[in-house]
Parts: sequence; structure tokens; C-alpha cells
Amino acid sequence: MSTRDYYEVLGVSKGASETEIKKAYRKLAVKHHPDRNPDDNNAAERFREATEAYEVLKDTQKRTQYDQYGHAAFDQQSGGFGGASGFGGFDMNDAMESFLRNFGGFGGGGFGGGQSAPDNRGRTLQAKVKLTLENVADGVTKKIKLNKQIPCESCHGTGAAAGSSPVTCSQCNGMGKVRQVRRTMLGQMMTEGICPGCGGRGQKVEHPCSSCSGSGTVRGSETVEVKIPQGVSTGNFMDLQGRGDAGMQGGPAGDLRIMMEVKEHELFERHGDDIVLDLPVSPIDLALGAKINVPTLDGKVALKIPAGTQTHKLFRLRGKGLPILNRRGSGDQMVRIICWTPQKLNRDQNVLLEKLRNDLADKTPEPGR
Ligand SMILES: [Zn+2]
Ligand SMILES: [Zn+2]
Repeated sequence: MSTRDYYEVLGVSKGASETEIKKAYRKLAVKHHPDRNPDDNNAAERFREATEAYEVLKDTQKRTQYDQYGHAAFDQQSGGFGGASGFGGFDMNDAMESFLRNFGGFGGGGFGGGQSAPDNRGRTLQAKVKLTLENVADGVTKKIKLNKQIPCESCHGTGAAAGSSPVTCSQCNGMGKVRQVRRTMLGQMMTEGICPGCGGRGQKVEHPCSSCSGSGTVRGSETVEVKIPQGVSTGNFMDLQGRGDAGMQGGPAGDLRIMMEVKEHELFERHGDDIVLDLPVSPIDLALGAKINVPTLDGKVALKIPAGTQTHKLFRLRGKGLPILNRRGSGDQMVRIICWTPQKLNRDQNVLLEKLRNDLADKTPEPGR
């Protein structure tokens, strides 16, 4: 905000009449208007200063406050005079609107809204990676091909045609933000929002690049390499900053969110960091005991099954589960014994088993016991 004396800014005396103030402002506004001085930051500053001074001095109440308290009357930081009205600054849009109403426009216009526009950041993209349980156990580097917006080569992402470059936005004088005063029943409320003229960029493209129609981005593709850590689960995600869509007219790129999806394994069932394997074992092996080679995520391991093992008994192979995400150590592998029933027996086998049945008749458990 300007700290120069408002009367000095407009070049009028302290006792100037409303008409004198209006005249002085009109002269300065025409001279320094950004549309007439597109590349002159000094002019933009003069224009802003004059508008600020005029905004205060045209209003009898504000002018009285200013005469009494000076700039402190409108200084938000110091608390100043704001008081019930909550007024803490000037309103460029409002000033421009009344300026155009009173003095006629310069053409081109565009001093409409004040509603916020989307900024120039690229969209955040999502990509899914499908992982096997082995990938989860070992970690893996995945290549993901993305279709996305990439910077336009013809204009190097600026959106401006060759030989031209973006100009300072006249609506916000390159600030990217505009202030607005809303009149409510409770008084005036000041809000600051994204400049609708430039979407917050502070710059505007006057001669758009023909390859990208001025957006600075075109459809393209990129292959992204992602290192997936050990121990991830379905629903975990990683955010890669700046790997999403390129930003409009040189704005920052969006992020890329990598969603993990772990496929089901044909042998192992996952329970957190543990995995469970169902192991079919014949009743003879269960009765007599056996040593069986059991698959794990890193090769086979010999498991000793004691004589008399019942079906559904669980054996624990410590540390043979999945690595724990972001920590040391691993889960376990559980081996669940499933009694496998022999089928299609020949005559001799049938005779043997009949004999065994008779021998064990008084040792077979009754249901419900
Ligand atoms: Zn372009
Ligand atoms: Zn702007």
C-alpha cells in the first residue's frame, strides 16, 4: 500500500473539492493506465497509487478518517481505524468499475468479475501399479507410461507465440491477486482472491502459441520409474512431486500419485506381514510323521511334521513372511496342514486300509467328542 500522501499523489491541495479530486484522478489514470503502458511497471505503480488515493479521497467519510489519522486509518497491520466497517484497504476492481462508468472505458475491458479462477498448476495424476507378493517381498522398480500434459516445445511452455512473450496482467498489475470489498449488512468486508484476468499468474499471453493455443502444454507421454519399497499393501500410495501434468504457461507441474495394488498369490494368503500356506499332507504322513519341502517366498524349506499331527494344525516359519514397511524385520509364514484324502484306491490298498480301520475302531473319535 502506498505511503505517499494521498493529496500529493493526486497533486491537489488539502482543501480540494470533490470535482478537483475527480479531475486530478482522471488525468493520472488516463496517463498511467496499464493498458496504455503495458510494459511499464512504474506506470502501473503510479496508477495503483492514484487509484488508492482516489478511492479514499472521493469518499467523504474515508477522507475525514484519512485527514484525522493519516494512512494508519486504513492500515490492516496496525489495526488502525478499521473498526466496525472492517475496511482495511482499497478495492481495485471497484475503482476500475466506477472509473469506467464515470469516464468511459478504453476498450478491451475485461474488468469484470473478481470470482476466483483456477490457478496455473498442472493437474495431479493417479497411476496404479500391480504388484506380485514377490514384488512386495523383494521391492521392485516399476516403469509407468503416463499420458499427460507436457510443456509445449514450440513456446517452451510459456504459451506465447515465437518472438513474443507474456505481458504483465493489467488487472492485477502483475500481483496475481485482486482485492474486493463486499458490502454486507454488517458493513464492508474485504477479501483477496486470485486475479480473474490472469488466473493468479500475474502475466497474460497476448499472442498465443499456435501449437498449444497459448496454454503452454500439449498432450504427450512420459515414462516414470518408481522404486516400490518392500512391504507395501493394496491401498498404499506414493506421491511424486511435480510428475503430474505440466502447469499452464510455465506454472508448476502437478503431482503424481502412485496407487499400489497387490495381486492375489496362488499359494500364499496375506495377513498383514504374515503369509499363510495351506499344505496338503496324506493321513499316513500325518500319522507316521514326515519331513516335507514347503514353498516360501524365497525357495523351499524343509518342515518336520511330528507323528500324530492333526489336520489344520499351524506351523510357524519365523521371518519367512513379508518385510515390514518402513521398518526392519519381517513377518512369519504360517503353514496350515490340510489332510489330503487318498482317492481311487486299488484292491490291495483297500484291503490294507480295511484292516487298519478294524484295528483302530475303538480309537476313532466320535462326532461331538
Ligand atoms: Zn506452445
Ligand atoms: Zn492478473
